[in-house]
Amino acid sequence: MAAAARTPSGEILLLEGEHGARFPDGNCLVIDDEIPTVIDPATRRLDLERYQCKLGMGLVVNTHYHVDHTRFSSLFAGADLAAHPLDAPAIGSIDVMAHMVGIEDKPWLPIWKSVMIEQWNYTPMEVTRLVNDGDEICLGKNTIRFIHLPGHTPGNMCVHLLEANEVYLADVDLTPFGPWYGNRYSDIDAFLDSIERVKTLGADRWYTAHGEGVIVGDITDRLDAFASVIDERESRILESLAEPKTLAGLIDEAIVYGKRWDPPEMFDYFEGTMVSKHLARLERAGMVERDGDLFARA
Ligand SMILES: [Zn+2]
Repeated sequence: MAAAARTPSGEILLLEGEHGARFPDGNCLVIDDEIPTVIDPATRRLDLERYQCKLGMGLVVNTHYHVDHTRFSSLFAGADLAAHPLDAPAIGSIDVMAHMVGIEDKPWLPIWKSVMIEQWNYTPMEVTRLVNDGDEICLGKNTIRFIHLPGHTPGNMCVHLLEANEVYLADVDLTPFGPWYGNRYSDIDAFLDSIERVKTLGADRWYTAHGEGVIVGDITDRLDAFASVIDERESRILESLAEPKTLAGLIDEAIVYGKRWDPPEMFDYFEGTMVSKHLARLERAGMVERDGDLFARA
């Protein structure tokens, strides 16, 4: 399925991801212009192949290194590939990505790698166009501006289509799940600053990589609701720490994900990474104290 918006600036088309655009799928944006462009090509392969010929000589944008945004970039081998310098190395190497995720020393690394490559089509790609905050590329009728929104990953970006005044938000996805910060260099405070920055963009139409896909009009309340999930998680952690607990004890409560999933080692890692970032933040704020392996409400 695809949702098309014909604007004075030409055709801008959202290709909707499968299964509610849930990982490892995502909604991807096609801009049919003199430089045909695709942002985050990670939806149905067949849908993307229809644009392969045209886009083969155009531009591919990866808003960040996660496979649910990059996995079919290799279909457009003749196109330029744009990404932020902080995320480009992980797009070019699965070993660098494993380091960025924080799992290079895990016993299950080989399983993760084989799933990435064989099931999710991770293909290392050379980023040929490094883009920084505020950089613009004129595609013909449309100009795209890159907005650096760190937090989810260090080099995470959204893309502002200036003439149409539309923004592809990528993983500031406004889903009820809330923000995700489960990689080594993910940062909760940077994510919150990035959400605030999105409020200043004032677009008329927004595209998310997951969830609804297209949202029209003011999204200030939606951004506040999205950010507030971080506070809700923190409140639940504080509630749980009325009794001192280890990190493993907190992980078992699945405060971020809501329930455990398989494989358990990977759940423990990603849930644990996010809970650890909350604990560090709460310690800095003087709300949690640590005694050896035990955490407790201060
Ligand atoms: Zn992501």
